[in-house]
Amino acid sequence: METKPDRKSWLRGAAAQCEPPPKARTNPLRLVLLGAPGVGKGTQAELLSARLGACQLSTGDIFRAAKTLEPCERTPALTAALDYMRRGELVPDSTVLDLVAERVECLRCGGGFLLDGFPRTVPQAEALERMLAKEKIGLDAVLSYELPLERVVARLSGRRTCPGCKAVFHVQARPPKVEGVCDHCGGKLYQREDDRPESIRVRMEAYEKSTAPLADFYRQRNLLVTVSAEGTPEEIFARAMKALAARGKSV
Ligand code: AMP
Repeated sequence: METKPDRKSWLRGAAAQCEPPPKARTNPLRLVLLGAPGVGKGTQAELLSARLGACQLSTGDIFRAAKTLEPCERTPALTAALDYMRRGELVPDSTVLDLVAERVECLRCGGGFLLDGFPRTVPQAEALERMLAKEKIGLDAVLSYELPLERVVARLSGRRTCPGCKAVFHVQARPPKVEGVCDHCGGKLYQREDDRPESIRVRMEAYEKSTAPLADFYRQRNLLVTVSAEGTPEEIFARAMKALAARGKSV
């Protein structure tokens, strides 16, 4: 089986090299994934990445990776960003855009990319548009995963993550065999700080206010593809692949 690049350049910044280096594709796909927290966007990004060979570029993962750095290794902007994240609030656009600009090499990658969690606001989308235009790179589509609000909240509050292998469980929908213990590596499952009820409320408000308008932004550019996020991860994935194929973007 092909080893996936470890996304070091994305997670740690441009000075870090991905291992193995990403493979250039003949028709690399460049997608943006949109969706409220909890619609299963991260899982879909992993499935798409496995099929399309493009890296999942998640801004949330950059911040989570920064949490493991020694405080002295973090810039003041990154330390402040982690406080916003803990509260469930959006990190300021300027911080996010600086981080993405430092990683422009990942947007140029010959393997394509799957942007996950970025852009999150209209100013971020406008900045991305300028960045890509400068690089003469076009987006192929923007997949927007949709699910009713009450389902989203139920999914998020029951989500449990393994700190070791990053496997995700759900107390009702996908419980581990032993409560609180990862089926794969035996790690002690935890609830992400931002999946706690008070943070979920703030995240949903941020989504409605700042991110939902992005659907219109991309609809106007004829890039928006809506995908129902009901059903199993495989069903949702099949739906997205079908929608991409209908736009002539199959692999
Ligand atoms: P995620 O894993 O995408 O849900 O992101 C986790 C948290 O990181 C969010 O709740 C925000 O605090 C922060 N974050 C991630 N991406 C962005 C972004 N593009 N703009 C602002 N904040 C972000």
